[in-house]
Amino acid sequence: MDKVECVVVGAGVVGLAIARRLAEAGREVIVLEAADAIGTVTSSRNSEVIHAGIYYPAGSLMARLCVAGKQALYDYCRDRGIPHRNSGKLIVATRPEEIAKLASIKAHAEANGVADLKQLSGTGARALEPALACEAALLSPSTGIVDSHSYMLSLRGEAEAAGAAFAFLAPLERGRVTADGFELDVGGEAPMTLSCDMLINSAGLSATAIARMLDGMPLDLIPPAYLAKGCYFSCNAKAPFSRLIYPVPEPGGLGVHLTLDLAGQARFGPDVEWVDHIDYTVDPARGERFYPAIRRYWPSLPDGALMPSYSGMRPKIVPPAVAVQDFMIQGAQTHGVPGLINLFGIESPGLTSSLAIADYVAEMAGH
Ligand SMILES: Cc1cc2nc3c(=O)[nH]c(=O)nc-3n(C[C@H](O)[C@H](O)[C@H](O)COP(=O)(O)OP(=O)(O)OC[C@H]3O[C@@H](n4cnc5c(N)ncnc54)[C@H](O)[C@@H]3O)c2cc1C
Repeated sequence: MDKVECVVVGAGVVGLAIARRLAEAGREVIVLEAADAIGTVTSSRNSEVIHAGIYYPAGSLMARLCVAGKQALYDYCRDRGIPHRNSGKLIVATRPEEIAKLASIKAHAEANGVADLKQLSGTGARALEPALACEAALLSPSTGIVDSHSYMLSLRGEAEAAGAAFAFLAPLERGRVTADGFELDVGGEAPMTLSCDMLINSAGLSATAIARMLDGMPLDLIPPAYLAKGCYFSCNAKAPFSRLIYPVPEPGGLGVHLTLDLAGQARFGPDVEWVDHIDYTVDPARGERFYPAIRRYWPSLPDGALMPSYSGMRPKIVPPAVAVQDFMIQGAQTHGVPGLINLFGIESPGLTSSLAIADYVAEMAGH
């Protein structure tokens, strides 16, 4: 049986960042990926926004790792020439009664270490974005966008340069905790059994299922898994904005917001729909709810401009009634299995946080 030091399950943006970090720390790393390429699941079905870290509960892992990860990601992209843009974002109050919420969002952001939000009047916001309808706004200067595919390619390249190996079409099918590590049954085109000292479960939507198939992992510590689908609509009209535009958040979601890709093309969403299976189809009918929501801040959105685009699935570990979830990163101090680190519920801002998550995991692993 082949023996390696460390196996990372999943070559999404988080698994890639962890593999690179551990390989650069001198670990022998193999990445097992069920698909035939890196980043084909949630890591290529998101908004590519570098989040500032505004809304997450103070002290949560999301808040801490987003703020640290944002800075690390900007530095990483700048140093390596990875396409990104520090576009900034406006959170807009479109009704007078929402203005007070802006002050509480600003105070909350400050508690998270995001001290650069600036409150603007409606006129002040229109000086930046003339087509915007709003009563007042908050400018988040540190929000941005990144070409996540270039970023992931760079992570993979650096992981390989540091000695990490990648096995594609290599799904982990079963595993056992042994006296000195793990035994893993890998399926796919070239089935094999591997042993390793350290196992990083970074399988995104499948992370809870993988923990369940690992004999020796205490089942009662594995969170339940739910799916919250998010659909996007693209816009066939040129959106006259250069910053991301978010309404004041409403209970259960961030509202129908406008993000931009690096070519300046606008997309709207993602919305939130709790589902019981994975189906990435975008129902055109969902777009009807987008028009009135968008026209509150962009009144001249033309009829018929929205087109169904793509969707992503949020790996939820709390049910719909629980409004907030945090990243759950479990090491031996939680589950008692030496060498095992499980990453559960890595939804947004997982892309922004990826480098900080990798540091956090490396520290748990003793680096
Ligand atoms: C709609 C939506 C919008 C988002 N927008 C943003 C955003 O703007 N900014 C931001 O910071 N974050 C955003 N996120 C969050 C971000 O996309 C995720 O946190 C991140 O992509 C998670 O990466 P991952 O590596 O954990 O998971 P994934 O990308 O899902 O990767 C997991 C990998 O594991 C593999 N795998 C699964 N099972 C097995 C197995 N048995 N064996 C081997 N491999 C396996 C899969 O094939 C996959 O490649 C968004 C998420 C969603 C759903």
